[in-house]
Amino acid sequence: MSIRLRVLRVCLAATLAGLSACASTPVQWASPEGQPKLPPPREINAVARPDAAHCAAIVGATLIDGRGGPPVRDAVVVVRGDRIVAAGARGATDVPAGAEVVRGAGLWVLPGLIDAHFHLEGDDGLPGVILQRGVTSLREPGNWIEAYDAARKLGPTPRLFLAGPLLDGPYPAYPENAMLVRDAAEARWAVDQLVERGASAIKVYFRLPLGLVEEIAKAAHARGVIAVAHLETVDAAAAVRAGLDGIEHITSLGTALVPPREAERYRQSVIADNDARVPGRYEIFRGISLAAPRTRALLGLLVARGTFLTPTLAIFERRAGDAGATETEVRGFENMMKLTLAARRAGVRVVVGSHGKAPGAERGWAYQHEMELLVESGLSPMEVLVAGTLENARYFRVDDRLGSVEPGKLADLVLVEGDPLADIRAMRRVKRVMLNGRWVGPAQAE
Ligand SMILES: [Zn+2]
Repeated sequence: MSIRLRVLRVCLAATLAGLSACASTPVQWASPEGQPKLPPPREINAVARPDAAHCAAIVGATLIDGRGGPPVRDAVVVVRGDRIVAAGARGATDVPAGAEVVRGAGLWVLPGLIDAHFHLEGDDGLPGVILQRGVTSLREPGNWIEAYDAARKLGPTPRLFLAGPLLDGPYPAYPENAMLVRDAAEARWAVDQLVERGASAIKVYFRLPLGLVEEIAKAAHARGVIAVAHLETVDAAAAVRAGLDGIEHITSLGTALVPPREAERYRQSVIADNDARVPGRYEIFRGISLAAPRTRALLGLLVARGTFLTPTLAIFERRAGDAGATETEVRGFENMMKLTLAARRAGVRVVVGSHGKAPGAERGWAYQHEMELLVESGLSPMEVLVAGTLENARYFRVDDRLGSVEPGKLADLVLVEGDPLADIRAMRRVKRVMLNGRWVGPAQAE
């Protein structure tokens, strides 16, 4: 048995025994016995590389490195080829002779942003637009991998981590973006098909029953990829115990937060009619209690399992005064924000996902809007920046090469004007974006 596998078993045993020693230990990935070590998940696009000898130095910016420590004023970040080779205070970090020097005075330099939940929805130009706004990696949890062919031909895009279509049961809400799974054998077959085609995660959709969620999670882990879910008809606590690594949408927690009879009424309404979930979510969230033991127990479980939570608040936003917004929707959305903060304060691994488009955001700004909603919910700007960079890199399992500004990591960077720790809206004032060691935007700054 490999050491990593042994660590996993010890952790599982400790968790089962109710011990807290491994409470926040992320899943240790191990290959099945006798198999070669599973490679880390990869983007499907070949990101262009610069000349290996090209050297760039950003001098004088304030560095927020993605790890959550205090910002470094008057910093130097040195990039050679596609890698970061140095990052630190100016006095302690040399600028190599012959480097392309970028003056950073008045700017803040951060890791490229990572979007855990992006949907293309046929807008082939959108990935290129969000790259110009600092998003250098995205995950699409619910579209055929070939749906990105046209987007990739239009020019540089973020690194594309794709899950392939949703795995859903009959009758799916989005037939064109789904693969039907009806039993355990089909679950294993579907996971194999998607991983062979390049899927770096598997997305479970809301019509699948608990037993198939468990089969899919098992099959995904055996192939070295994570399983994430949009839940409506399966209890979130049960699904996390069944092996999910991530919960997409704060609303996926809904049925675990209300009395069983109310949850069952909601489940039956959604099983009878996919569209019932839209008004039903707000009714559920209007009535949740953050102090209820079931709420605290669910958040405690997410913490103990190291489960990631992508709230995607922007897609659910309903405010007083919005056209057609009911009081139930407005109160329900307020509680979604409060639950997001409670989850973070409990220690849940909250990350940033934009959904691609959102009602309260102009085209291309959904990610920044989501960051603003997370800050409005009560997370600190630093928590949100870490959630969108290093924590998301951990969620993608690519934190060995992405997610922070540290020597040895790939050079995905964003430079903004103004202090995002004082006002997160500074993340909209993008001055430069570097992808894999090459400046790629924004167009007006070139
Ligand atoms: Zn989605």
